[in-house]
Amino acid sequence: MVVEELEIGRIERVELRVVGLPLVTPFATAAEARATRDVLLVRVDSEGAIGWGECGAFAQPSYTAETIVTARHVLAAFLAPALTGARIVGDLRAAFTAVRGHPMAKAAMEGAVLDMVGRRHGQPVWRLLGGSPRPMPSGVAIGLQPSAEALLEAVGQAVAEGYRQVKLKVRPGWAAEPVRAVRERFPDLPLWVDANGSFTMADLDTLLALDGLGLRMIEQPLPASDLVGHARLAVQIETPLCLDESVESLGDLEAAAALGAVRVLNLKPGRVGGLLAACQLARHARELGIGVFVGGMLESGLGRAACLHLQTLPAVNLGGDVSVPGRYLQEDLVRSWPALDAEGCLDVPSGPGIGVEVLDEVVTRRTLALEIVGDSCVDPRAHGPALDEGA
Ligand code: MG
Repeated sequence: MVVEELEIGRIERVELRVVGLPLVTPFATAAEARATRDVLLVRVDSEGAIGWGECGAFAQPSYTAETIVTARHVLAAFLAPALTGARIVGDLRAAFTAVRGHPMAKAAMEGAVLDMVGRRHGQPVWRLLGGSPRPMPSGVAIGLQPSAEALLEAVGQAVAEGYRQVKLKVRPGWAAEPVRAVRERFPDLPLWVDANGSFTMADLDTLLALDGLGLRMIEQPLPASDLVGHARLAVQIETPLCLDESVESLGDLEAAAALGAVRVLNLKPGRVGGLLAACQLARHARELGIGVFVGGMLESGLGRAACLHLQTLPAVNLGGDVSVPGRYLQEDLVRSWPALDAEGCLDVPSGPGIGVEVLDEVVTRRTLALEIVGDSCVDPRAHGPALDEGA
């Protein structure tokens, strides 16, 4: 089965919906702290089948440039109208190429279509992608904490829950000291750090101090555009460098590899324009000898399920930080999300499509804004700024 050749059918309805999901505890990165996770969902209806996709964008342009508002605009004005002309899944690529940038908006639309097509054909998304389920260790990303004690407690809790690897968010002023405390308390725990691009080469001393702590990798220490800086850093430390925000395309990956700036790729379907683009990147990374893991973005269970499907690709050779959404969401949008097994692994959902059931009641109750993209929106000028906020 070649996924690109599967028929999409006639798209009768495209729904864009923003839902607000309260977090268990605020999640802090170098850029911001969040108390809720607002999520943009795409639902497509086609000839009796429906599909759901989730957009990874946050409310603020802190991780990448996209936000929920920009993604919603691009989906309503450009991607949804283009979908009406797509006959098979492969046609999405041309429709997406016509829109520059906005990978998270594209990923949300593609996710909804793949879920719908998978359900119609009775096939799980992992099979459409050419994946092959196997145990993959799950990890936890722990945000910036108010104190070293709080960090040790958070790591201890993750380990007690059965996770076998932990990633710690760091930034200037919160790096070597707290990470050393975790290393001393958990000497054998596979550990890595993620700076979300918050350091510069002026912080070299801090980065060298991290280098001595037995980390699996240092993720995105420098800003996304600073590939040359990453290459210079790579020759000064032994810890492998992992890139996240720096790689949005095959070209980015090629450039980073040519410079020697990357040994591990954190692959997120939203950041690279969808699951199909992520598959391409994963295969190419492995050809280049670059390790690949799938990373999470505080998604609902719907978006996280997509990560689990992607994780089944043979080219994904490392466990990532895709934990159970119940760790950070007070209430999830889906039923039957897999539980962590005794080995600290998560099974991919086995049902058709994305394999998780979206709970309509929760979606309705948590809705902050709802927009139905109709045929009238084929003309992007029909889509003004007055949206149905608060519906
Ligand atoms: Mg990261």
